[in-house]
Formats: sequence, structure tokens, C-alpha cells
Amino acid sequence: MKCDPMARIKGKDDKMKKVAIYPGSFDPITYGHIDIIERALEIFDNVIVAIANNSEKKALFTVEERLEMVKSIFKDTPNVIVDSFKGLLVNYVAKTNAIVILRGLRATSDFEYEFHMASMNRSLNTHLDTLFMMTSKDYFFVSSRTIKEVASLGGAVEGLVPNLVVRRLKEKFKLPITKKKQIGWDD
Ligand code: ADP
Repeated sequence: MKCDPMARIKGKDDKMKKVAIYPGSFDPITYGHIDIIERALEIFDNVIVAIANNSEKKALFTVEERLEMVKSIFKDTPNVIVDSFKGLLVNYVAKTNAIVILRGLRATSDFEYEFHMASMNRSLNTHLDTLFMMTSKDYFFVSSRTIKEVASLGGAVEGLVPNLVVRRLKEKFKLPITKKKQIGWDD
């Protein structure tokens, strides 16, 4: 049975809920992303993690794999809804009751791209705002790209991504997974 991930936030008091959409590639999800989601939950009732299904961007993990990882990480957090979308973000946002787009900022280098995207989205939908959250000091250097680079070369990424992601990266790059970790991971 195909279930509607939005069903959880479509309730009687629908309009009262403050919902944010956190779009991105999440290829793969890192503790930097998770930190932003957890902090956003202090402000919003629901956060929709919206995984972009963008065929133009070459990804390491398929959308299904990314969905599975993020869903598994937030399986005990019902106010995080995990979904994927194709095409224009503003069109996807319109199908939800989200009031803002949430994005993270790590460095001034993120700013220019984010500023252009936020301005473009606002020009496509004048009611739509983007909220930026600063990265935490522990994760300002963490990006999916560097995680993939380091992991592909056999470097340790434990502590920067959840154990489930460490395992998936090792599987992708055909790196050995120690027995202890195979049986002992609490993800
Ligand atoms: P995209 O391809 O859309 O940039 P990403 O998955 O790379 O997707 O990032 C999604 C969002 O999360 C972006 O706003 C990005 O700046 C933010 N982000 C990524 N890593 C971190 C981090 N370590 N700390 C804070 N924000 C982050």
C-alpha cells in the first residue's frame, strides 16, 4: 500500500501547525543536516525533509537509498516527514502546508548560491520565504561531498554521519565492514 507521507501533518488543526521544508540532495545525510533538522524542530511543529530527485546532478546514492536512510534515522521522530520531489521546489512546496524553506549556511561561500536560490524562489512564489540556519561549530566543515571523498579513500567518517550512513558508504565503496560494527551498530 502506498502511503502518503503528508498524511501525518494533514489533520484537523492543519492550519495551526508550523511546517518547514528542508530541501536538499542529502547524498548522503550528515550530522550537519541532522543538527539543522533538530534545531528547526524547536521552532516548527513539523519539518519535511524533501530529497531532490534531480537527474541532472550525479548522485552516489539513488533517491530510494537516500529516502531509506533518512527515514530510518528519523523513524522515532514522527514530526519529521521524509519525502522526495521532482521538478521545481516551489511547486512541491505548494502541495504542502509549509510556510518556509529551510536551508543551512556553513560559510560565506554558501551564501551567494543560497541568496540567488532564495531570491528566485521568492520571485516564483511571493509568499514563500527562506529561513537560514547557521551551521553548528562542530559541523561547519561537513558536507556530503567531502564525506563521499574521504569515505571513498577509506578515511574515517564516523561521528560526522550516522552509523547507518557509514555502513552504506562502505558498501558503496566496497570497503570492509568490521564484524563488531556489523552486529553492534545501534542505528
Ligand atoms: P543541495 O544540493 O541542495 O545543496 P545538500 O544536501 O548538500 O543539498 O544540502 C542541503 C542543505 O543543507 C543546504 O542548505 C546546505 O547548505 C545545508 N547543509 C549541508 N551540510 C551542512 C552542515 N554541515 N551544516 C549546516 N548546513 C548544512
